[in-house]
Amino acid sequence: MTYVIQEACVGVKDAACVDVCPVDCIYEIKPQEKYKNLPMFIHEDECIDCGACEPECPVDAIRVEDEAEEPWITINAQLSEVQDGL
Ligand code: SF4
Ligand code: SF4
Repeated sequence: MTYVIQEACVGVKDAACVDVCPVDCIYEIKPQEKYKNLPMFIHEDECIDCGACEPECPVDAIRVEDEAEEPWITINAQLSEVQDGL
């Protein structure tokens, strides 16, 4: 399983979650001019499901995958694959 970042992150992206992640698996897809309508994302293969990021989000955008909604589960997974190719 993994954690997923949802729509509420778009337009905020303050990186509060990044600061507390013990394995540095939260990323921002670049370039932002092109992907400004996408949230930050959690790499599905790197996340250790510790839950530390969830309470840090000021807009309640982070959910464990079982409680997240589409299309954000798929988008986080697709962005993880893109990140692997960078
Ligand atoms: S659940 Fe833990 S490991 Fe996964 S993204 Fe959040 S802080 Fe990082
Ligand atoms: S803390 Fe929330 S709003 Fe801030 S970057 Fe992380 S997911 Fe986005």
